[in-house]
Order: sequence, then C-alpha cells, then structure tokens
Amino acid sequence: MNAGPRAADMLPGAERLPALAQPILAWYARVARSLPWRAEPTPYRVWVSEVMLQQTRVETVLPYFERFVAALPDVGALAGASEPLLLKLWEGLGYYSRVRNMHKAARVMTERFGGRLPGSYEQLLTLPGIGEYSAGAVASIAFGIAVPAVDGNVLRVLSRLLACRADISQPRVKESFRAAARLMMPGEAPGDFNQAMMELGAVVCLPNAAPRCGECPASQGCEALRQHCADELPVRAPKKPRRIEQRTVVAVVSRGRVLLGLRPETGLLAHMRELPNFESFLSQDEIALRLAQWGAQGASLQRLEDGRHIFTHIEWRMQGYLARTEPFTPPDGFIWADEASLRDEHALPGAFKTYARHLPLWLAGNE
Ligand code: SF4
Repeated sequence: MNAGPRAADMLPGAERLPALAQPILAWYARVARSLPWRAEPTPYRVWVSEVMLQQTRVETVLPYFERFVAALPDVGALAGASEPLLLKLWEGLGYYSRVRNMHKAARVMTERFGGRLPGSYEQLLTLPGIGEYSAGAVASIAFGIAVPAVDGNVLRVLSRLLACRADISQPRVKESFRAAARLMMPGEAPGDFNQAMMELGAVVCLPNAAPRCGECPASQGCEALRQHCADELPVRAPKKPRRIEQRTVVAVVSRGRVLLGLRPETGLLAHMRELPNFESFLSQDEIALRLAQWGAQGASLQRLEDGRHIFTHIEWRMQGYLARTEPFTPPDGFIWADEASLRDEHALPGAFKTYARHLPLWLAGNE
C-alpha cells in the first residue's frame, strides 16, 4: 500500500497522536456497544454491516442487518439473489446503489475469489462499491490487517484532536488524515482501534457544538479542547445547494390494487418501482388528462398532504393526490400491485413514504 503523505508533515501535532491510542482502546473495551456484526465478525457480516452503516444510523441498520444476513447468509447467496429480493431487503434504507454494488461485488467474488471476501486490502479495493474506507474496515476488523478506516466520524475526531482547519472534503486532506490514523494505530488489534475511533466520533465527539469532552478518553491530548474551538471543526467547504424539483405524485387505486411505475435503468432510484409521478405541480385537470391517456376514465381525485424528500443532490417537493378509478390495462412498464405483493415483492423507495404509508387503508377501501 502507498504510504501516502507523511502525516507529521501535513498535520502539525500528528506526532502526539500515538500516545492517545491506548486510552481510546481502553475506553472502547469498556463502552463498546454489543452489535451482531461485532459478536460474530465474519468478513461477510462485517462487509454487510459496513455498507449498511454508510450514511445510516446503527439503530436503523440493526433490523435490516438481521433480515439481510438471515435471507442471504453468505457471498454465494447474495450473488445468486434476484434484484427484486435485494431491493425488498433494502427497502427504506436508501442509497440503493449500495446494495446493487454489493450484488456485483458478490458476483466478482464468486468468479475470482472462491465465493469469499478476499483477505487483502488491495484486492478488496478492486471490488465494486468498496472504497478506501470500506476496504480498511473489512481488512482490519475481519482480517486483522493494520490499515486505517477513516469515515466522517474519524475525520471529525482527528481534526479536533489536532485542531486542524484543513478542508476535509479535499482528497489530499483526507489522505493526510488516513496517514495520521496509520501513525496512531497500535501494533495489535487494528480492527478494534478503527472501531474505537468510529465509536468515539459516533457517541462522544459529536458534531457541531455537541462534543462530550468530559467523557472523552482523548481529552488530555485534544488541541481543539485546549483552544476551545471544537464546535468550529471539522472544516468542510460548503456543498452546492440541492436542486429543488417539484413533483406531482398520484396514488392510483382500483379495487384493492395500486398502480406502480418503473423508474429508468439509470439515475435517481434506478429501476425501482414507484408511485406514478410527474414533473412540476399539475392541476387536477392536467392530472385527469394524463390518467385518461393511460386508459383511466372518470377517476375521482382527492388532494393529499404535501411531501418532501431529500436525496444527496436533489430535493423533491411533492403535491400528492389519491385517484380512485375503475380497473384499466396499465401502460407499458406499469403494474397493478395488491397489498400482499407490496409487502412481499415490490420495494417502494422511502421518497414516497408520505403517501405509501396510507396504502394499506386505501387498498382495504377504508379511506
Ligand atoms: Fe472531541 Fe472533545 Fe474528545 Fe476533543 S476532547 S476529541 S473535541 S470529544
């Protein structure tokens, strides 16, 4: 592995970090949460948990993790799974490209690595969806390889320990923090060390003005605490504002079934089922016209509450309608789904949850 920039050159004060590793490890041994992937840290389970935990809180991940590894207990089962099953298991967790990349990676492992995760950091990095963070986490936790795993939590802890004001969204700065973590890493238990740093960021060195410095095992060496500037760190260049899109969502319901569309093969929510929706806010006449073009005559329309969903780069502002109609033959790509198939087969993205949560009532004809 490339040694990367020398942390001590890039980050003044980095030479003080190794002395903080033992107190942090001792703290972690005391407080580590008992989690299913920690109790049984096989490479597959560690990988699944790390992918799920990206952008997602532990409490949210727990039931998804249990369900996923029960349905797909190993790489071979994941490689052979159908896409609808994968999306169903991931339904509501968001960032669906994560599970699609896992699927691709499992197929590569089946072809090239005997149906197992490869036990080398460099080989892990060659797999779809596995970047430096995930490769570091799996290599260190599951295989005991001494490589850092620097996620957003660890970046925050390190920038505060060093009172470093470099912009952590810059690749060069991230690389220097990885070098700092490598410098800090003790000779033994690299997986515990990486998890301890992540846990410290997740439960003690909290973002904004909320760090719990009084509970921190590294407080005696923390430069941000000394300079009273923890709430200003880490520094991150402002992100581009999200593009706001107006959408009209129409839940078309007919005799206990709801009409589902299929999103394009690429782009946002690629190839997922969805409630029919249109760009911009349409009037009721415009909606009725669109439905008539699909073959739905005389639909009764009911205005629903507004919805909002935030994606990484886009925000949807939604106006919703319930359309009750007689059955009609759906246009290409659309299907009718009843309650059982919604529950067991089709995954609806969380973007539609404002409306999807009413579906059981609407399909039962109660509202
Ligand atoms: Fe974070 Fe405070 Fe600990 Fe410094 S002392 S690492 S700011 S929690």
